[in-house]
Amino acid sequence: MSSTTGLGKTVLVTGGSGYVAAEVINAFLSRGYNIKTTVRNEAAAEKIKKSHSQHIDRISFAYVKDLQIPGGHDDAVKGVDGVVHTASPFVLEVKSNLHDLLEPAKNGTVEVLKSVQKSNPDVKRVLVTSSFASLVDLTQGARPGYAYTEKDWNPTSWEVAASQDTSGVVSYCASKGFAEKAAFDFVADNKPNFDITSICPPMVYGPSSVGFPGFAKLNTSSADIYRFMSGSLKEVPETGFYGFVDVRDLAEAHVRAYESEAAAGQRYLTVSAGYTYQQVADIIRAGFPAKRDLVPEGNVNEPFPDVYKMDNTKIKTELGMEFRPLKTTIVDMVKQFQGYENAAVEA
Ligand code: NAP
Repeated sequence: MSSTTGLGKTVLVTGGSGYVAAEVINAFLSRGYNIKTTVRNEAAAEKIKKSHSQHIDRISFAYVKDLQIPGGHDDAVKGVDGVVHTASPFVLEVKSNLHDLLEPAKNGTVEVLKSVQKSNPDVKRVLVTSSFASLVDLTQGARPGYAYTEKDWNPTSWEVAASQDTSGVVSYCASKGFAEKAAFDFVADNKPNFDITSICPPMVYGPSSVGFPGFAKLNTSSADIYRFMSGSLKEVPETGFYGFVDVRDLAEAHVRAYESEAAAGQRYLTVSAGYTYQQVADIIRAGFPAKRDLVPEGNVNEPFPDVYKMDNTKIKTELGMEFRPLKTTIVDMVKQFQGYENAAVEA
């Protein structure tokens, strides 16, 4: 789908070096928007210039070394019409839950919003890339019979999330909840010229339209799939979160939410469907004979477990979203990984 909605308009995407951001940038570019994106260093900017070379005349950069720098985004937000805040640490093994997850996620979001309020009163919409992590109650486990919706909030306390006795997964999930809440609170408390819309995806998979930087540097969710075909898994792990979305659909959801007036102040649980790691293993084993022996077999075609659901009614109804099924997402992603492996062997 293409439109001329964005012609001449500029959107700031924070964290342009990220997996999700690359796709979000592409989606806005393909709608005619100009993109300004924050990166931490020149090397990241150079990579983006190469990977988005066909649109280089419509991309500009702002250098922000860390999300938490007070006033760090003051220059970045100048001259843009809207902001999409994707940058946030998505790592599950950290030295300090407080300093490496909670603070950058929450304080970083607030710093971006402060800069917008101070330096660019023309911005009317800030989209925050949040997560299902911001909704989930991990203490409830698989929660059979429950359907998560946009009404849910992760109840983990700051103290628990900050403790080093807490796992990185629990702390990361909490960091997304605190960051998203802080964004809505900022608007309620400061009444700026802009409103907030948040996008809450569960696990994000699918091929990167700008390519992956290399297997050693895969982002967390891409590495989650690559391990199935790399031979590093001896058995099918227990599924972490029972929902996924294709990164291409997630990017589309960002543009639709950004362009929708009715999305002001709304959260959108942006999920395709439930899935399990067993299904991922089945898809790769059935579709990629060369990989079959590297993928743990598990319990082939096992029935879908009795676990919570994620309700995508709101985003389908209000933004007209449709979602790719798991098979398309995984097959396209594995094909891309295979292409890189083959290129590495030939090089
Ligand atoms: P990613 O590839 O690791 O990208 C994270 C981005 O955030 C990178 O650009 C990174 O910059 C930047 N960043 C992290 N900490 C920073 C800091 N302290 N200061 C400045 N920049 C910082 O992860 P992703 O999967 O694309 O995630 C992007 C967003 O989507 C995050 O908000 C994440 O929570 C959300 N999300 C992702 C998934 C998923 O499955 N992938 C699911 C739900 C939500 P550097 O590259 O310079 O480190």
